[in-house]
Amino acid sequence: MTNKTPPSIIALDGPAASGKSTLGRTLADALGYLFFDTGVMYRAVAWMALQRDMNLQDEAAITELAEKAQIDIRPPSKPDGRSCDVTLGGRDVTWDMRNAEVDANVSVISAYAGVRKALSAQQRRIGLRGKVVMVGRDIGTVVLPEADLKIYLDASPQERARRRYDELIARGEKADYEDILKRVVERDRIDSTRAVAPLRPAPDAVVINSDELTAEQVFDRVIALCK
Ligand code: C5P
Repeated sequence: MTNKTPPSIIALDGPAASGKSTLGRTLADALGYLFFDTGVMYRAVAWMALQRDMNLQDEAAITELAEKAQIDIRPPSKPDGRSCDVTLGGRDVTWDMRNAEVDANVSVISAYAGVRKALSAQQRRIGLRGKVVMVGRDIGTVVLPEADLKIYLDASPQERARRRYDELIARGEKADYEDILKRVVERDRIDSTRAVAPLRPAPDAVVINSDELTAEQVFDRVIALCK
């Protein structure tokens, strides 16, 4: 067996609920890297806009909100299933942003060029420090095209909706499978057809379909690519 240095910048992209966060977190733990889930930044902006009853179609106002937002992401402070702490102006909003209303609206605001510019500049600055697993939709294509390893994790919409359903039930929340499936499909449609940084695999990404794989099998496959 040959020993090589593991890739320093790992980009992990894919559609909603494809298992990116689970894989990203275990991979970062195994390598001793920073885990950075960029979706939380888009969620934070959507959540703030909804809280303030803003018109989500007002691109200029939403862009200004994204530019001014004091989003902070830190290692998890509680063992309640979170992958990181997300604070907005010092307030812990980690779970507030994981709700159906944010799910249904986040893709609208993440399609705005100004919102993407503000958030991806912060992501790129952190990513370039290295020893990072960065998770999102456009990490390998736009945020960190120089990543040493790019993974695109895919799964069928039905499988992804089932996983999201199980997750919600496990957290003791109410969930409706058909409704989740509808929202997953709609979010993918907006994310992959937007003009700026659409969801798609980078040409040099390793594409993994996890329909028939457990989280552990996906992890084994990816860690083998790192070592
Ligand atoms: O990954 P997660 O489901 O939390 O992402 C929420 C939304 O944020 C996505 O549906 C997408 O619209 C947006 N997003 C993005 N680019 C990223 C990460 C997330 O557009 N790098």
